[in-house]
This record gives sequence, C-alpha cells and structure tokens, in this order.
Amino acid sequence: MRFGINTIDEFELAGKTVLCRVDMNQPVDREHDSLKSTQRIEACAPTLKELADAGAKVVVLCHQGSDIEYQNFYCTRPHARVLSELLGREVGWVEDVCGPTAREAIKAMKDGDILVLDNVRFCSEEQTLFELKLKLSHEEQAKTQVVTKLAPLADLYVCDAFAASHRDQPSLCGFEQVLPSAMGRLFEKEYCVISELMESPEKPCVFVLGGSKISDAFIMMETVLKGGSADKVLTGGLVGNILLHAIGKPIGKGSVDFIYAKNYEEYIEKAKVLYDTYGDKIELPCDLAGVTDGVRYEYSLSEVPEDLSAIDIGKETIAHYCDLIASAKTVFVNGPMGVFEQEPSEAGTKAVFEALGDTAAYTVVGGGDSVTAAKKYKVTDKLGYVCTGGGALIRFLTGEELPVVKALRHAASVFGKGKA
Ligand code: ADP
Ligand code: MG
Repeated sequence: MRFGINTIDEFELAGKTVLCRVDMNQPVDREHDSLKSTQRIEACAPTLKELADAGAKVVVLCHQGSDIEYQNFYCTRPHARVLSELLGREVGWVEDVCGPTAREAIKAMKDGDILVLDNVRFCSEEQTLFELKLKLSHEEQAKTQVVTKLAPLADLYVCDAFAASHRDQPSLCGFEQVLPSAMGRLFEKEYCVISELMESPEKPCVFVLGGSKISDAFIMMETVLKGGSADKVLTGGLVGNILLHAIGKPIGKGSVDFIYAKNYEEYIEKAKVLYDTYGDKIELPCDLAGVTDGVRYEYSLSEVPEDLSAIDIGKETIAHYCDLIASAKTVFVNGPMGVFEQEPSEAGTKAVFEALGDTAAYTVVGGGDSVTAAKKYKVTDKLGYVCTGGGALIRFLTGEELPVVKALRHAASVFGKGKA
C-alpha cells in the first residue's frame, strides 16, 4: 500500500483474470496501420509482463486518440502488435471492447495470456464528450456497459494509466467501485516522482517552463512558486514572450500578434500579476532570436527590431540558464525554449537539454514535445525521469486529487488488501 492505494504486491495473481487499464495512446500513421511513437507502450509493458509472468490472464484496456479533436482516433491493433514485439511473446487482440466477442475471447484465455481489447473510447460512455457533458459519479460509472459487462469476468482491476488519471471515465474510475484494485508499476513510479518533486525536491530546485501550451505553463508556474518547491523558474518559448510583454519589454510585433492570434491575451494580465508577486524567482530571457529567410538573428532586449517574431532564446540567456541548471539539485522541464523543430531556432532548446544531460541534478522532463526534444538531442538516457503524462501532471500540480487516485483509494478502503 502506498499513498492509500494498493500495489500489485498485495495480490495473489496466479490464475486470476486481471483487467489492466494502461495509456498506450500514441500518434498514428493510418496509411501504414502503425504508430509513429511507441514510448508509452514501452513504459507500461513491464507491468503487463509482470502480471502475465505471475500467471494472471491479462486483459488490456486502453484508449487511442480523442473523440473531441478526432485526431488519432483509431483501433488498438497496432498497439497489440508493438506489445507483442516488445515482450517477445504472442499478444492477442480483439476487435471489440465489451461485447460478446470480447467476452468470449476473455473466457478463452489461459494463465499468462495477454489480450488487448479495442479502443475503449469506441464506447460512447467512455468518450470525453460524455465525461464533460454528463459528469457521471464514480458509482454511476460502475453501471456503464464497459464495467457491467467486463467486471464479472475479472478478479482484479489494475490501473497503470497515470497519464490518463485526470480523466473521469468508466474504464478509469468505474471498476474500482466493484473490484479489488491496484495501481500498476508505472503509475506507482510516476506518482512517486511527481509527489517528491512537489513536496520535497532537493534544493535548489529549478523549473524550466517554455513551449506554447500556455494554460498548463501558467498553472504550473503559479503552483510551484506559491507552494515554494521552485527556487527559480526559467522561462522561454511563448511563455517567456508573454511574461516579457506583460512587464513592458519589447518582443517585436510578430511575437505580440502571435499571442493575440492564439487568444492568449488573458495570460498577459496573469503574467503581470505573477511577476509582481514572484519576480525575484522568475528568470526572463535577456535576448531573443528570430529567423529571416532561414537565417538566425539574435537581439538583446534593448535592440529588438519592431517587427521581430521571437522564436528562440538568445546566447546570453542560454548561458545563464545552463549555469542555473548546472548548479541546481533538481530540475524539471516542461516545454521547449523555442521552435526546436527547425534548425535555425533550435539552439536554446538544444543547449538546455544538453545541460540537462550534463548536470548532476535530478532531472524530470514532462510533456510530449519536451520528450521529443530530449530524444532529438540524445539525452533521454541521462535524465532522472521522463514523465509520460502531461495533463495528469498539471492536474496533480494544482493539488487537486486526481479522479483515478480517488477511485483507487476508494477501492483500497472498501475491498482492503483482500486477495483477489
Ligand atoms: P510540451 O509538449 O513539451 O508540453 P508545448 O506543447 O507546450 O510543450 O510546446 C511545444 C511547442 O511550442 C513546439 O512545437 C514549439 O515549436 C513551440 N514553441 C516553442 N517556442 C515557441 C515560440 N517562441 N513561439 C511559438 N511557438 C513556440
Ligand atoms: Mg505539446
């Protein structure tokens, strides 16, 4: 038991049917019926292996893509294939979530088998639109199709989907109402790393916040400054631009227009309040870079041209940030320093990630593009931890109890450690 939640260790697994909810949501290549990245599958594979090796029948539940933006909304066949390659054993797949075909396939499983069910979000009750509109309680989620059809076939529910733990959906929060439940190894690890980062990071602790997902960056900045876990927040990317603009520094018309084009003007005022309150802990870029006709130009703040579109931090800022990262004991990074996808504007992100690879500090990187940057600059292996969850991380940082954590705690109190 950890954090009021059962771990897999608490249960006898041999011969048991385990429903394991994972997050294997990945960018999809429809044309080739394959996945563009397998990072999340690699991350949850050890839990599935451990369950199967212990003699359980492992039924895998997962979602792929979002019913809201309708991107990457796809079946889970490629995931089963990747899993099979990673584990070096056969992994079953069924084109059904909780209908008769899926249930028959589950009943036919042998000890040690792994079976991946199709995209849970193909069921209406599992969709994010459904979640946002109907706001079912956890008790109500226990009455949905997916739970009422699958739970009777299972002995134990395991959630290893920390990256989806901010979602309030039946496959994540419903089974805990009716089955003994545990968190998987990846969930446990990510929960641990993040709570330590928030509650007792080794000091000095530096947060590097950049990128373009402004709402997340500002929630995070406010939380870590208010809560005292951050000694310094280094800003770059669009986050840095907005802060600079908010306190009246020049960033160029191109950069300002971009802020308005993205409808981020409400953050200008927020940025000002944050800077007024915590200015001594917030580091802003002292120089910026723009790109014209494929050529990079750098400007100190006093010489920013009127029409600049700032898409990276400059040399002076890079040197200063790298020093702070080198002398920190804990560094957390979410969001790149610039448009690192293009060579002329990658210097800031590249230098920061290389500094992350070199520092003796404990390093944590979260966020899809940041994880991509870590890979691009070949430092993934040198990082302390790469967090698979972006949305969950942000929700956790705001101090709210995550829906899945709440549900898992409920199961621990109702079913106790009771052997499945
Ligand atoms: P993460 O996925 O790591 O959380 P975000 O999604 O918040 O990061 O931001 C990543 C994106 O931000 C990248 O595609 C990058 O090109 C873009 N970006 C970085 N700096 C800037 C900038 N100054 N202006 C516009 N976009 C930027
Ligand atoms: Mg992103």
